[in-house]
Amino acid sequence: MYLSGHLLSSIALAKIIHKPLGVAFFPLAIAAMAVNLIDADHLIYYYRDTGVGNSFLLHPLHEFWAFVGLITCLVALILKPYQNLIFGLFFALLLHYGLDFACNYVTYDLAAIIGFEVCCLALLMLLFRKDEQRSKYYTFFVSLWLVCNATLGFETLVLHWQPHLTRGIYLTSVILNGLFILIFWRLFAGQSKTKKLYVKNG
Ligand SMILES: [Zn+2]
Repeated sequence: MYLSGHLLSSIALAKIIHKPLGVAFFPLAIAAMAVNLIDADHLIYYYRDTGVGNSFLLHPLHEFWAFVGLITCLVALILKPYQNLIFGLFFALLLHYGLDFACNYVTYDLAAIIGFEVCCLALLMLLFRKDEQRSKYYTFFVSLWLVCNATLGFETLVLHWQPHLTRGIYLTSVILNGLFILIFWRLFAGQSKTKKLYVKNG
């Protein structure tokens, strides 16, 4: 899966599971978005991957997915105060690996990937429809989708970067991932504090 699909689905997952897990949405959303930084492992052996290869056979954090999952569960058992948040992180990991597996299954069919991203956007619109800051969330989601895909399109169609020849294509993805975490933090951290305060006072 490409970056925008990973990030949008992670936020949707955080929105859906934060209540059953008993954790606040904001930290879980940040953690779930950060999980996708595991794709930084593509920077090491970028020359093995043509962009449609099976990550589970090519990149270390994907090859050892079971080990990464197990470590996350063990950390959750040790860090009891953050247990539910780390379990949320574990589910975000499963989602990331699951989507990579699904993309590999359809050999990175662009129509299927864009279709999935549009479904994620629609789901997010639905999930945030009652939020008082929904316009801000909607703007963030659509901007994220457009910027990530425009960047990828520019690199492949205009600059003619090829994944197995240019490490930059993976580097941009990691930088954009970090950048959108920061933007999300800047935009919505205040709202999270207000909500906490409201619960305390109420
Ligand atoms: Zn991946």
